Amino acid sequence: MPQKAKQDTPAMRQYHRFKEQHPGCLLLFRMGDFYELFFDDAVTAHQTLGVTLTQRTEGVPMAGVPYHAVETYLRRLIAAGHRVAVCDQVEDAKQAKGVVKRDVTRVITPGTLTDETLLDAAAENPLAAVAFHSNDNDPDGTASLAWCELSTGRFALTTLPAGRVGDELARITPSELLYCDTATGDAPPRVQTLSDRLGYPLTGRPPYTFRPAESAQILKQQYRVKTLQGFGLSDTDPAIQPAGAVLHYLRETQRTDDADRLAHLHPPKRFDPAQHLVVDATSLASLEVLQTLRTGQTQGSLLGVFLPRCHTAMGKRQLKHWLCYPLINPQQIEQRQQVVESLVHDSRFADDLAAVLNQLHDVPRILGRLAVRRATPRDLVALGQSAALIQPLHHALADRPALTDTAKLAGELIDPLTDLADTLTTACVESPPGHLREGGLIADGYDTQLDHFRSLQNDAHTWLADYQKRLIDECGLNSIKVGYNKVFGYYIELSAANKDKAPESWHRKQTLKNAERFITDELKKFEGEVLSAESRAVAREQHLFDQLQDLARQQTDQLRAFAELTADLDVLSAFAAVASRHRYVRPTLVDEPALHLTQARHPVLDQTLAESFVPNDLTLSEPDDDQATLALITGPNMAGKSTYIRQTALLTLLAHTGAFVPADAATIGLTDRIFTRVGSADELHAGQSTFMVEMTETANLCHHATPRSLVILDEIGRGTSTLDGLSLAWAIAEHLAARNTRTLFATHYHELTQLADSHANITNLHVTVREWKDDIVFLHQIAPGATDRSYGIHVAKIAGLPPNITTRANDLLQQLAVNHHTTPTTPAAPKPATATDPMPLFTEMLEHPIIDQLRQLDLNELNPMQAFDALRRLQQDI
Ligand code: ADP
Ligand code: MG
Repeated sequence: MPQKAKQDTPAMRQYHRFKEQHPGCLLLFRMGDFYELFFDDAVTAHQTLGVTLTQRTEGVPMAGVPYHAVETYLRRLIAAGHRVAVCDQVEDAKQAKGVVKRDVTRVITPGTLTDETLLDAAAENPLAAVAFHSNDNDPDGTASLAWCELSTGRFALTTLPAGRVGDELARITPSELLYCDTATGDAPPRVQTLSDRLGYPLTGRPPYTFRPAESAQILKQQYRVKTLQGFGLSDTDPAIQPAGAVLHYLRETQRTDDADRLAHLHPPKRFDPAQHLVVDATSLASLEVLQTLRTGQTQGSLLGVFLPRCHTAMGKRQLKHWLCYPLINPQQIEQRQQVVESLVHDSRFADDLAAVLNQLHDVPRILGRLAVRRATPRDLVALGQSAALIQPLHHALADRPALTDTAKLAGELIDPLTDLADTLTTACVESPPGHLREGGLIADGYDTQLDHFRSLQNDAHTWLADYQKRLIDECGLNSIKVGYNKVFGYYIELSAANKDKAPESWHRKQTLKNAERFITDELKKFEGEVLSAESRAVAREQHLFDQLQDLARQQTDQLRAFAELTADLDVLSAFAAVASRHRYVRPTLVDEPALHLTQARHPVLDQTLAESFVPNDLTLSEPDDDQATLALITGPNMAGKSTYIRQTALLTLLAHTGAFVPADAATIGLTDRIFTRVGSADELHAGQSTFMVEMTETANLCHHATPRSLVILDEIGRGTSTLDGLSLAWAIAEHLAARNTRTLFATHYHELTQLADSHANITNLHVTVREWKDDIVFLHQIAPGATDRSYGIHVAKIAGLPPNITTRANDLLQQLAVNHHTTPTTPAAPKPATATDPMPLFTEMLEHPIIDQLRQLDLNELNPMQAFDALRRLQQDI
């Protein structure tokens, strides 16, 4: 085929070779001043970047990006979830014999970024791998996860029930998820489901990278150990499988087999879920911990309350981490609380600490770049400036009882870090360029050789001025100019009118329109000296830069300890800043499953609504009294039910992170899990969730909730027909009450409020409204007892439904209310309907055999699929 022949140039052969070596990557192929993409890659680039699609030859689509702007394009390709291999020319094109030598110099994937320009400073960027140890249908199967942040070196692994993988990944929020490739080339369905639900780019990897033997070997090689026991791992531990896969992938993308290149990686640490309060994926989302449901933004989320108060990038990342992994150990929580308290009570301490934190750079990520050899001169200077802060930091911490251990640790870091800081500040200028192509990092006076080369260059100006003066004197021509041009080098210039007056010894160099340029032997010699001094100076700087980086790398452990310490302090200072500004209180954590909040506020609305937010109290499960464990909250739409129950969950979560909480007083029982389930009909879930999902999630919570859990149910059961929904809601409430699980259940099913009559530990709360003339005013005040009306028509009126409709609806309501004098009874003691009941709606239906069947279902015994089947059967029967 002639077409084939045309595209089969040596360069294209190179291209195809690299493309084959990097399956699944877009290949950016350097040609002249552009990086070119071909074939499907070109189409992808055209669609993602909007660059023009052309043809290299017939049938070969091509798109290119200019080399000097490549970082911007890389950022956009990565953000779109692509992996990119950058193929550079690795020899000078002018010197090349035949086709220029090329090689892939970088493989950039969403989970392996290190460059500052490609990363979001406030967000972690973990690479995760998942290995399932059982087949798809095994309900008791297990899986292992490993996750690692190349930019900072954090590395963790865990083995867990396969069903929990999604929840754990929601907290990890990986930027890329590795899985073991199958023969079909498609991701296995359960991996695909994870990615669909949570939106991670997936990368299939060869099965050998997941094999236990390979994994054990690469781990030992990476950490230079003979056995993994020191890390609490064994060669047969299933968790090393994904860890090995992660390491393989990192080495491949960093193009190295050298353990030193990834020397900053911490040994993998086993993550123990039992050390943390469990917040599953659904709760994380519906409580809007990290982002809002509606817009997906940080602002408006719980994270957004504290994030602006962090001073450092590492603090921001740590904050996210702490919110996803609240503690359950009361001593650890208390330690954090004590620091927050001392910061709240001592504003000078807070100011001193803030002053130090404010000057800190992103030390962990600089360490990451140092390790993978991608640090910039600016990184080095920033590292020196940051290390120098150990002394003022130690000073700020001294004599704070809450921080004795931290101060001691800081004290141990003073010597090594100050030494490093001194060296770096003496060696480097204060604001160096972003790269070292033309030098400019090393300060004058640090290195005699470099000074010598520099003085040759500096003296050049004086010499040239002298030389020009000498020539003018010798030739008697005032217009002689000695100059320099990047392409042609040094020259002597005469105007065209004077060009014939040039002495014999001058050699003609270049003719311009109005001038003639010459060179002399003397100037030529000078040029050689200066230019070589310049390139030798740059080479010398590169050498010194490398030396200083080595020096810094030797302090990796100390710098990392310093970074971790400051990240923690930063989060604590953010907790304290918010607490002071918004009048938060230190919660008391108790061992009993109590929940006692006085004048509690929703952390986000508290800030946006400020004074107009109405605080509320809550008491659940007082240990000694005969108190409720489950509260049913009724009230009209828009009254504030969802806000009230969510704020309870958020305060509980916050209390476990060591933060203060927005309330006047708070006593919170240590909690093992927070479940938040929002009915699929709720507007917040619009378009995202189906009744099936709602029931699956609810089934999961019914299985796992313990008396130490906190359950938040918002309009559960609304996504199906009224009777189905009511019956389900009823049964779920009974189930949770029987387990004594602290539960807040917001519902529009008024019928449920009868549960309080038959269950001692179920109580009714309602959100008050005031009727005013024909309108209602939302008071957002929670009060004991149930509401008697739903005010739906009032709400509809406020929402702008035409008056003829609301008036008619009101009439209908009056009629229905008159007729419907029979109130429903509890399902346990159904009252027979009488023939005279004009509207025996609910009562009669309770007699239905379906209700019986429903009652017999033991939700504890059903997995989500069985629950769904049961539901389907019931529906068919109806
Ligand atoms: P419901 O769940 O009862 O329909 P929401 O909890 O969604 O009501 O609250 C609706 C709106 O009412 C909120 O968006 C908020 O603006 C306001 N609101 C809720 N609770 C309060 C409160 N305690 N104080 C002031 N405004 C509130
Ligand atoms: Mg609501």
